[in-house]
Amino acid sequence: MKYCLGIEGTAHTIGAGIVSFEGKVLANEKAVYTSETGMIPTAVAEHHKKHVDEVVARALKTAKVGWQEISLISYSAGPGLAPCLHVANNKAQELGKEHGIPVVGVNHCVAHLTIGQLATTMKDPVFLYVAGANTQVICLAGERFRIFGETLDIGLGNALDKFGREKGLGFPAGPKIEELAKKGKWVELPYSVKGMDVSFSGIVTKATRMQEKVEDVCFSLQETCFAMLAEVAERALAHAERSELCLIGGVGANKRLCKMLETMCKARGATFAVVPLDLAGDQGAMIAWQGILEKGKTSEGIRPYERTDDVVVDW
Ligand code: AMP
Ligand code: MG
Repeated sequence: MKYCLGIEGTAHTIGAGIVSFEGKVLANEKAVYTSETGMIPTAVAEHHKKHVDEVVARALKTAKVGWQEISLISYSAGPGLAPCLHVANNKAQELGKEHGIPVVGVNHCVAHLTIGQLATTMKDPVFLYVAGANTQVICLAGERFRIFGETLDIGLGNALDKFGREKGLGFPAGPKIEELAKKGKWVELPYSVKGMDVSFSGIVTKATRMQEKVEDVCFSLQETCFAMLAEVAERALAHAERSELCLIGGVGANKRLCKMLETMCKARGATFAVVPLDLAGDQGAMIAWQGILEKGKTSEGIRPYERTDDVVVDW
């Protein structure tokens, strides 16, 4: 059996995953940098440097796989915070040399898409990618994943975290907002869809300044932002003539978001699936799987600004 070790290090997470070439996830270990005040890139990189060896060792132990069985190493080459990307790249190159294993750098966003496809067994879905820094509606068109629509300012995860920070809910705030929203009732918030694009920063600013009960603001923040996503996702399904919607990214942990998207899909005869929680956020298994898809290539260095549609889908 052949295995790939994938090292993730684009932002807050340093992760190591081990995946078989057939697509079985054997290990997915990580250490996550947390802070009340946000991420200072160099501080996050220090955290990753400190934990990367231990995370890789944990992955090998969990998978019960030895170095002689690892036939590929992949790392997140971008997009992300440069100091963090260097940690993943340096470790991948170092281990590759030490054990004589080829090393390939992959795109973190594309890896989110392909692990979603693997986990949900969807063939050619519209992807709704809702993470901390990213919010995009994507589908494969020809040889590239095309972005049909995206946030014009900040990703929904970061928007929720920003609101949470202002209201003293801690970081990350998404799960806390979901809990509080269960006890909330509707208050009016601005709704901001522009064509296929969405915008969250104005809504968050308004929500932050509201004096209403925090439960009510959390409820309405979710209802408004999630309805915006459902609207653009539905339009993408119609426009791209697809019948599968695949929700990926860390905000996919939110049950209310899943419910709303599922209802929309059902009404138009489409299938909805969400990537399982352990594969939803940033982690190494998705980097490993993307490495397997791109086996045969080798690379060095980082690509901090590489976009999803820069990558040619040739697998
Ligand atoms: P990612 O960037 O893919 O790792 O996703 C991280 C983001 O997901 C953070 O901004 C979190 O606040 C957000 N998140 C995690 N769990 C939830 C949840 N239950 N509801 C909403 N957002 C969430
Ligand atoms: Mg991510």
